Amino acid sequence: MVNEDVTSPPSTQRTIPAETQTDGLAPESATIRIAPLQRNVDEEERLMAEAQAQGATALQFEADQVVFELKDLSCYYGSFRAVREISLQVPKNRITALIGPSGCGKSTLLRSFNRMNDLIDSAHIEGSIRYHGADLYADGVDPVEVRRRIGMVFQKPNPFPKSIYDNVAFGPRVAGYRGSMDELVERSLRRAALWDEVKDKLREPGTALSGGQQQRLCIARAIAVEPDVILMDEPCSALDPIATLKIEELMRELKENYTILIVTHNMQQAARVSDFTAFMTMGEDRAGYLVEMAPTEELFTRPANRLTEDYITGRFG
Ligand code: ADP
Repeated sequence: MVNEDVTSPPSTQRTIPAETQTDGLAPESATIRIAPLQRNVDEEERLMAEAQAQGATALQFEADQVVFELKDLSCYYGSFRAVREISLQVPKNRITALIGPSGCGKSTLLRSFNRMNDLIDSAHIEGSIRYHGADLYADGVDPVEVRRRIGMVFQKPNPFPKSIYDNVAFGPRVAGYRGSMDELVERSLRRAALWDEVKDKLREPGTALSGGQQQRLCIARAIAVEPDVILMDEPCSALDPIATLKIEELMRELKENYTILIVTHNMQQAARVSDFTAFMTMGEDRAGYLVEMAPTEELFTRPANRLTEDYITGRFG
């Protein structure tokens, strides 16, 4: 299948550096080169060590701008370590993208930010995640309250089988919201850039909307409980290019009020929408680890690590 990303305006499409287009190994007529890299193990280990050393000096933000701080975070399913010793900071009111090859632990890492992995019996973490300075996994922290403050939008839009109105009102009702529900529903739908399209059919089922509208409804539902952070796990992967652009536009608006973390397999999307990008990959033990995190433009134009460069130029992953 040809992956034609028609959603990137030409001006934001990254130009592939000339030296990656031909390298003497590929036949001259080849236009697409996704050559499996035959690296030796020593080279691999050296690059990993380099990545880990850089990880230790990952981006540092002003203390009052740090929403999450991870220190040596490892995530396990039973005895399998899916994510290895990640240390990074997530800045406030910015969009941070997590990219990397399939299976490197992006979703696992994302779900650890609001303790969604607690719902999986075999899952546990080592290391720490601080949220505004407080240990998110400390005894006595209520995971339900954590998930209210740190909302999540999933890959496949998943509105409840209820009306548009009730989808948005659901969370506030459960939380015992006492203000005007009509106003809250309208405000949330406006923030999710959906109000104008649904204001005359609030009693119709949420599931009757288009895929892109359903995803914005899910964003409205997440916003309605007034979170601080929105986690998005490949929120556009089930959407067409136009709906994708709308969600990306919305994300840029939302970051004025929220901190956003997005997992995406689409590098153009990370490049278009995020302020910072963290690139993960996985080692021989299949544990995902952080290679580098940098301002997005820098990561895509001047990656610090060879592994990142190989990935963003399509040589790996
Ligand atoms: P990514 O999002 O980068 O594709 P995932 O976080 O989904 O990666 O998966 C990372 C690793 O953890 C994979 O090896 C996957 O098979 C494993 N994994 C994910 N979810 C579970 C689970 N619920 N139980 C056991 N292993 C899991």
